[in-house]
Amino acid sequence: SAKAAGKGCWCSFDVSLEDRGFRQRQLDADMRLALRSGEIALHYQPLVDLRSERVVGLEALLRWNKPGEGWISPTEIITIAESTGFIIEIGRWALRRACLDARSWPGLRVAVNISSIHVRRLDFHDEVAAILAETGLAPEGLEIEITESVLLDRESEVLTNLKRLRALGVRIALDDFGTGYSSLSYLTDFPFDKVKVDRSFVRDLQVRPEKIAVIEAIVTMARALAMDVTVEGVETRQQEAVLRHKQCGTAQGFLYSPARPAAEIRDLVRRLDTRKASVA
Ligand code: C2E
Ligand code: MG
Ligand code: MG
Ligand code: MG
Repeated sequence: SAKAAGKGCWCSFDVSLEDRGFRQRQLDADMRLALRSGEIALHYQPLVDLRSERVVGLEALLRWNKPGEGWISPTEIITIAESTGFIIEIGRWALRRACLDARSWPGLRVAVNISSIHVRRLDFHDEVAAILAETGLAPEGLEIEITESVLLDRESEVLTNLKRLRALGVRIALDDFGTGYSSLSYLTDFPFDKVKVDRSFVRDLQVRPEKIAVIEAIVTMARALAMDVTVEGVETRQQEAVLRHKQCGTAQGFLYSPARPAAEIRDLVRRLDTRKASVA
């Protein structure tokens, strides 16, 4: 571009990289304000028990409707926040917000995604304990979702923190299982209560029978390790039927509902729960 050409020192930079850097700095500044002003919110997506066909939990997902721009992808927000360290503040905020909201939905566990950068901090379990005490949510009502990347280097801090969280009564789920750098040894080395099977295993279930075989193997393995299984990204009745047949515990996906604002959850859960009762 003319701008880049005009400054010799920028010649080696790709303009699109330059633009991306600009956008990231802008988003970084804007998200700090947006978190404080309440523009960034948590929405909640139901988890449905495939046997009872009832809602048993809710996953909190970050949502930012940025004025003039529209919805910003959580992945983009998280990536930037991880690079600046702001992710710690987002994590604390999300935990407190979700624990407060969860008190309106007794009997439903709330799951919060927490970045690896946050989990490995020495005082992470103290933070969680303090937020539970402050909000009055029972530890059993909270689940922490972490992705496999958190475990890659097998830091002892992570293991220690996860054990302490579990000692509190908080549940731990391994998110996006089956993607990235999965290693089966994670399942024996770390104290998970649940594995969440990535939606890439569900997407073309009907035309790729080998994917059903993999899900079946994960269910068998999880059962042997006394872990629950949630399958993500369930969009059709056909997928649901296969997963139920393979005895997956819970399912989550657009078939039931996308993530919705906290104020709508009570009605949404009632609707999903009675949907089946009225058919039976
Ligand atoms: P995740 O934790 O694996 O969350 C599931 C993602 O799948 C969500 O995307 C959800 O909207 C989407 N999803 C749910 N059901 C379906 C479906 O049936 N079909 C399809 N195609 N997608 C479905 P979302 O909200 O864009 O979040 C993306 C990722 O961003 C999350 O993946 C999580 O890793 C991260 N994330 C979201 N909120 C937070 C947060 O508060 N903190 C942190 N650290 N990460 C978050
Ligand atoms: Mg998750
Ligand atoms: Mg996931
Ligand atoms: Mg994910």
